[in-house]
Amino acid sequence: MKPVIALVGRPNVGKSTIFNRLTRSRDALVADYAGLTRDRIYGTAKEPGYDFILIDTGGLTDQTDNMSDLMRKQAKLAIDEADLILFIVDGRAGLMPTDSDVVQLLRNDGKPVCLVINKTEGERREIISAEFYALGLGEPQVISATQGRGIDALLAEIKDRIPAVEKLEADEPEQFDENEIRLAVLGRPNVGKSTLINRLLGEERVVAFDEPGTTRDSIHVPFEKDGVKYTLIDTAGVRRRSKVSEKLEKFSILKTLQALEDANVVMLVLDAHEGIVEQDLHLAGLIIESGRAVVIAVNKWDGLEKSEREWVTTNIERRLPFLNFAKTHFISALHGSGVGLLFKSVRQAFQSAMIKAPTSRLTRVLEDAVADHPPPLVRGRRIKFRYAHLGGKNPPRIIIHGNQTESTPNSYKRYLENTFRDVLKLQGTPVMIEFKTSD
Ligand code: GDP
Ligand code: GDP
Repeated sequence: MKPVIALVGRPNVGKSTIFNRLTRSRDALVADYAGLTRDRIYGTAKEPGYDFILIDTGGLTDQTDNMSDLMRKQAKLAIDEADLILFIVDGRAGLMPTDSDVVQLLRNDGKPVCLVINKTEGERREIISAEFYALGLGEPQVISATQGRGIDALLAEIKDRIPAVEKLEADEPEQFDENEIRLAVLGRPNVGKSTLINRLLGEERVVAFDEPGTTRDSIHVPFEKDGVKYTLIDTAGVRRRSKVSEKLEKFSILKTLQALEDANVVMLVLDAHEGIVEQDLHLAGLIIESGRAVVIAVNKWDGLEKSEREWVTTNIERRLPFLNFAKTHFISALHGSGVGLLFKSVRQAFQSAMIKAPTSRLTRVLEDAVADHPPPLVRGRRIKFRYAHLGGKNPPRIIIHGNQTESTPNSYKRYLENTFRDVLKLQGTPVMIEFKTSD
């Protein structure tokens, strides 16, 4: 389970700037997909050597709240969800009464709090810190989020406080159990996840546990199908959300991030009766960011007119173009139609995500691709590719070495991606193409 760290502080102190700085490295993956926005509230920090989920509680609160409601909500969220709270203050504005009020709220709960003074560029550390000692939070971290000052020290402090944020083997590829498919069933409420899970498991198994646990927990159900071992990661199983409606709805994003982290393949369940709504897009964004393999199950396909079916199909193509690598199934979890066929796509997506391909093979594909369509000239010189090797799995990362490779236009990168996808018969997984220049 990844540790969770929450940013709390008055509006404008720099929470989202800090959030962006600490979660930036996955931007690259998302930037490849037009029309996709990142989640700005929950992010996975990917500084090398660090592994945690970051929440910007400022993004969760309502603009229309007055200041004290706003801060109370933020504090409550952080206390409920986080392992460590970063309390951010503005070094330029100085200590404000609201700051002290929030610290009071936080302190009542005993959650560990780290004081972070932001906007400190060009100022002496001791001078800025002095007045904030009154908060009684001990030694502050003094940073400038815009300039990157103090960020390394802040990260080191985080690691001191929660050793679990340390990612061992920072640069090693992730390890996977290749004999078991870890399948997460994801979808917004009411699309039919529970109904589908019962179908997938092939019996009327009750998945509606009501166990205590954090809102981050999913239920893991091992099962076997056609000789293949699976672990189903059931985010729908805990049905407590009906009790505390609004809050838990938001919290399920945290659960989604955790499930994505645990999964190899995601089954994204959509509701054909409603088409693609904002929440589906949000979920799709998180899935893309995770790099996991995907199978799309368009549920409630029963009882629809032909024209309605056409509308849904077009709607999916138009609004989820960045998931076009995923196989789409039209099913009825209620009646069971189409459900059996999902497994084949899941297996295929898993195999594609875990592909093994020697450098010689990838280099041959690269050479053939270049022979068919040479890369463009850049400042009079042709980009030269030398060889390609596999740099990781789930998603496959194909690393291409050569000269001037960083100038490769996106359209050509896309061409290479599609070629690798076709030749290696990759279906259901994103493919990352990365360039390395060796001259
Ligand atoms: P939030 O409301 O707490 O999320 O604050 P934002 O991250 O949106 O930042 C509010 C403003 O402060 C923006 O204009 C930022 O560019 C600015 N800001 C954030 N960090 C720093 C910093 O380290 N130094 C300075 N000078 N400005 C900053
Ligand atoms: P979850 O919140 O995603 O777990 O959704 P549920 O499995 O609880 O289903 C929500 C509602 O949709 C229930 O009333 C189900 O009976 C209904 N439902 C689920 N699958 C189908 C389906 O394939 N067709 C139709 N018409 N209704 C379905």
